[in-house]
Amino acid sequence: MDHFLYRDGVLHAEDVPIPEIAASVGTPFYVYSTATLLRHYHLFNDALDGTDHLVCYAMKAASNQAILKTLAQAGAGMDVVSGGEYLRAKAVGVPGDRIVFSGVGKTAAEIRLALEGGIRQFNVESEPEMEVLNATALSMGVVAPITIRVNPDVDAKTHAKIATGKSENKFGIPIARTREVYAMAAAMPGLDVIGIDVHIGSQLTDLAPFELAYQKVAELTELLRAEGHDIRRLDLGGGLGIPYTRDNQAPPLPSDYGALVKRTLGHLGCEIEIEPGRLIAGNAGLMVSEVIYVKSGEDRDFLIIDGAMNDLIRPAMYEAYHDIVPVVEADPGAEQVKFDIVGPVCESGDTFAKERMMPPVAAGELVAFRSAGAYGAVMSSEYNSRPLIPEVLVQKDQFAVIRRRPTFDEMINRDTIPEWL
Ligand SMILES: *Cc1c(COP(=O)(O)O)cnc(C)c1O
Repeated sequence: MDHFLYRDGVLHAEDVPIPEIAASVGTPFYVYSTATLLRHYHLFNDALDGTDHLVCYAMKAASNQAILKTLAQAGAGMDVVSGGEYLRAKAVGVPGDRIVFSGVGKTAAEIRLALEGGIRQFNVESEPEMEVLNATALSMGVVAPITIRVNPDVDAKTHAKIATGKSENKFGIPIARTREVYAMAAAMPGLDVIGIDVHIGSQLTDLAPFELAYQKVAELTELLRAEGHDIRRLDLGGGLGIPYTRDNQAPPLPSDYGALVKRTLGHLGCEIEIEPGRLIAGNAGLMVSEVIYVKSGEDRDFLIIDGAMNDLIRPAMYEAYHDIVPVVEADPGAEQVKFDIVGPVCESGDTFAKERMMPPVAAGELVAFRSAGAYGAVMSSEYNSRPLIPEVLVQKDQFAVIRRRPTFDEMINRDTIPEWL
């Protein structure tokens, strides 16, 4: 459920009409709903009620500081995957002991940054990383709390580019080597081994892969405890999918997911962390764009809009589906027409939808991409010298620009010309 509904035939973000935002900031833009962000955070938090837990928002999904602050004030921790994300979380006042650091390629500089600023734990993904972390911690006279990410070799049954839990993926250590790697870590004086981490992929629409992975984590917990490791925290990653279409089968609810976590891991008495990203931000955001031209082709019409693959890359990169709807609702009697919906970028990949049936729209009208809140603005670029599009946050009847559109001069003047030219 989200808070983007039609009222009197006009799409609103909470109590704000979308055309009002468009008139103020220009198109294209992203708009997020505070109520939806908070609703999704609370669904997860409530789902783990009764267990010692922390919901760490995977901020790579949407990392604008206004979004982070909204969630942090509600009690969320943060899952970060770079030094930049760590500093963003700190910038909005998230304390270090509510930030977990994930990712396969943490550099020594990033590790130092997090140790200086405080960190809840590092989710370590390899032996070489363990060695660098140990050496860095020792050189600073501190001890780094760690979990080790295990790769459970479970098929997440999601798009190949966002599956992470199979043995062929770059993530985590193979489960067969767990004992050996934990023993190595325990022998390093700069590390405090506190738990296990797992994350098998993104946009999972079935609980079965989670169940398989968490059963393996439960077995591992008992095994590692028997070897003398004080396993007291389990980080279960993110990955729960969202409905991108209105008609397909809805993915499992956070409450079902929470029940699964309690059933598979509750008996171990561990603190539970989860790292949802997409399910918190995905349906909390729209991308709004204006139709520039309607072009008739040989066998189809093209809707050429002012948003492009540089603004929202998911369709080009993951063959992702987004519902695309007119901002001003069509007459109930209007017949649906077939469009290819494309952007102005000079690549055929700049296609958002092929042969999409939708109500007729004309040049100058607005369309909204639903479910664009996660992996949207954060993955945008200035390809084709198109300035990054603005982000807007709505709360009830108020809206605020939370990242403004750079001017052409700002974009162009980031280049510097060498002396010899
Ligand atoms: C990407 C990622 C997440 C978030 O995944 P979602 O599918 O957005 O919930 C969580 N943890 C780790 C380690 C990740 O890489």
